[in-house]
Amino acid sequence: MINLQTLIDDAKCFESVRLLRWAEGVICPGCESKQVNKRGFEETQPLQQRYQCKDCHKNFDDLSGTILAGHHQPLRTWILCLYLMGLNLSNHQIAKELDLNKDDVQQMTSQLRSGIIANKPEAKLSLSS
Ligand SMILES: [Zn+2]
Repeated sequence: MINLQTLIDDAKCFESVRLLRWAEGVICPGCESKQVNKRGFEETQPLQQRYQCKDCHKNFDDLSGTILAGHHQPLRTWILCLYLMGLNLSNHQIAKELDLNKDDVQQMTSQLRSGIIANKPEAKLSLSS
């Protein structure tokens, strides 16, 4: 059986995310400025473009502020999940196709349905009430 994940090109995945996310140009997630410089690539992920905002000097990358950042699943798994959702596959079928746990897929699809940009502001624990 052909494994979908081996057919997917990581570079194309990052390209897809950039297209999804920066359709109208790169925007700083901190101050929404469009004055952004490219700043090379992530050391651990050479396909992940880094940027620096010219206005607030915040550093960010292709995945900063998205639900795709900081997950143990590789980007290609997310992209495939998104693709299979587009084909109207059930969580159960997606789990089978991607060889993932059904609970993981459940979590991924519900996050993807609410959009790839993470909800803001981040939840913080507060001691005062
Ligand atoms: Zn900024």
